[in-house]
Amino acid sequence: MTQVPELFGSLVFNETVMKERLPKDTYKAMMKTIKEGKPLDLSVANVVANAMKDWATEKGATHFTHWFQPMTGITAEKHDSFISPIADGSVIMEFSGKELVRGEPDASSFPSGGLRATFEARGYTAWDPTSYAFIKDKCLCIPTAFCAYGGQALDKKTPLLRSMEAINKQALRVLKLFGNVTATSVKTTVGPEQEYFLVDKKLYDKRKDLVFTGRTLFGAMPPKGQEMEDHYFGAIKPRVQAFMNELNEELWKLGILAKTEHNEVAPAQHELAPIFATTNIATDHNQLTMELMQKIAKKHDLVCLLHEKPFDGVNGSGKHNNWSLSTDDGQNLLEPGDTPSTNAQFLLFLTAVIKAVDEYQDLLRVSVASAGNDHRLGANEAPPAVVSMFLGEELDAILTAIEKGTAYKSKDAVQMKIGVDVLPKFPKDTTDRNRTSPFAFTGNKFEFRMLGSHASISCANIILNTAVAEELKQFADALEGSKDFHKDLDALIKKVIKDHRRIIFNGNGYDDEWIKEAEKRGLYNLKTTPDALPHYVSDKNVKLFTSHGVFTKEEAYARYEIALENYCKSVLIEARTAVDMVEKDILPAVTAYAKDLSATALTKKQLIADVDCSYEKTTVKFLSEQSAKLYEETQKLKKRLVGIATMGYHDLSFACKDEILPSMDKMRGYVDAMETVVGKEYWPMPSYGELLFSV
Ligand code: ADP
Ligand code: MG
Repeated sequence: MTQVPELFGSLVFNETVMKERLPKDTYKAMMKTIKEGKPLDLSVANVVANAMKDWATEKGATHFTHWFQPMTGITAEKHDSFISPIADGSVIMEFSGKELVRGEPDASSFPSGGLRATFEARGYTAWDPTSYAFIKDKCLCIPTAFCAYGGQALDKKTPLLRSMEAINKQALRVLKLFGNVTATSVKTTVGPEQEYFLVDKKLYDKRKDLVFTGRTLFGAMPPKGQEMEDHYFGAIKPRVQAFMNELNEELWKLGILAKTEHNEVAPAQHELAPIFATTNIATDHNQLTMELMQKIAKKHDLVCLLHEKPFDGVNGSGKHNNWSLSTDDGQNLLEPGDTPSTNAQFLLFLTAVIKAVDEYQDLLRVSVASAGNDHRLGANEAPPAVVSMFLGEELDAILTAIEKGTAYKSKDAVQMKIGVDVLPKFPKDTTDRNRTSPFAFTGNKFEFRMLGSHASISCANIILNTAVAEELKQFADALEGSKDFHKDLDALIKKVIKDHRRIIFNGNGYDDEWIKEAEKRGLYNLKTTPDALPHYVSDKNVKLFTSHGVFTKEEAYARYEIALENYCKSVLIEARTAVDMVEKDILPAVTAYAKDLSATALTKKQLIADVDCSYEKTTVKFLSEQSAKLYEETQKLKKRLVGIATMGYHDLSFACKDEILPSMDKMRGYVDAMETVVGKEYWPMPSYGELLFSV
């Protein structure tokens, strides 16, 4: 292996490469575009494109692609080679500024939520120069946004960039109030911690449910699960380590800051955490990370499962979204600071987040809603479906003291006058004690823990950025004309704490008592995706999106419809897979086993008339009863699948939740009960024990 610093970013057309390869003027123009969003004119783009092509071909690339993130949640690419014929019949390698800046993929098969039908059939991709181009599989990838001709966003990047612009604008207004005139931009930063499972490929291939749906639809618990807690942070096995090593190398080459790797709670579960980056880059990088995890696993005869709940009975996989805001002059705006002025500024940003999470808890829930994540949220290892915030006892006590105007009692009692007194130091480690909170303050950032492992982090960050932008806007509106800034600031912070205290909960989020308490407080408990999704397009939320230019009303509806459709399709694929497995594999296997047991008993009886056949008899009886019930439920499900075929997606989503999934659960109950008694050689697929403990 080459030294890591040399390896790092070696496949990225980054600032260093640009400085080396671009003429001075072009480089300067590029930097202006990257840092200040200044448009690039075509003559400059031509020079950049040519330099990119030279660099890429030297590294062995033959093709280029606009790399984008349609609403499928994965990335899309269409490769074009650099070749261009010349008069003598040979070719040269060419890449123009026009090709760099704009592309027109035939994109009619990407989900548009009806947007394209009403406008134009084709969409176009536009270069996002703030995310560096890179080489993947001999192809120069240009990160792009994907839009319809009318400008409607058809992807996950465009609205994310818009939301970053919205929060930038409002945060700068707030900073000015505190006398900061040097910062020219505020960007949100994200470090997404990615959980995943690794299973042996040969076993995976024998499980139709994993192949078609990404999760096991059946499977009895093995004698050992995760109860010994011996996997979490345990020594990493050589085969997994080999996978991780190769993954790290490939990620580093792409300039991705892969930092932490460890075994997670469930057997066969692992985590990778990068060092945080600007949100749009972190989003690109997380997509690449998920793609490379899957690709590299295959090279090691493994399969990487990114589903939120691949196995019942053990932990599912999430993605913790560590989020903060920082200025271009290097200030983290969620760092409490240690002067009265930085404290006051921190408190204003903190209360903006508190107000945002309270007022847009429904949207935050929507942003993590999917068929897969429904199995996780509210189960006992993941955050509940109720959105609440954890601040830690100390910070909470400080806020209470501010609200009530009383003294904050730590070691010494301290009066808290905003902008005058210094915020008492609270130890940072106490802020991260509570792992059960969906939205926790962790010292100088917030950790949003409800995201599913499989989802793009884009949606959650769009909502978070936009909601906080709205609160910052309200604060700036209220304070910009203030005659007595400190007095008004103090009053504003007090009011927000008082009005939105209900969202703060420092206790155990997994406790049933909390769910009751949350209900009393009037917090939403949107248990499933069908319950949550309609909130995407409520008046309040559409107003939020449109007033900050993040989504138009049509775009918001399109997202809602795509999410709804996606949920229904996922559940229906699962249902059809379950039926197929039961009818083609499970019932025939059970019947074969029962037949052999019966034949054995009969033969034994011929030999010894009064022989004890209790094992055969009881087992055959049990299997016959269970099979009959399973058969009946399966027929019922099949009939229901036909019955619901013509429903619209809204009603269909509730049918999926209220009828299809419960029916599949019943089937699972019968199947799992039979699995525990059927002979190993007869069972048609690898068991949980094999899947979870084979690597
Ligand atoms: P752990 O959760 O293991 O204690 P940390 O909380 O230090 O580790 O970091 C978890 C993730 O949070 C990492 O990806 C880290 O880069 C990210 N992170 C740290 N600071 C920030 C920040 N200011 N903005 C966004 N993410 C951050
Ligand atoms: Mg953390």
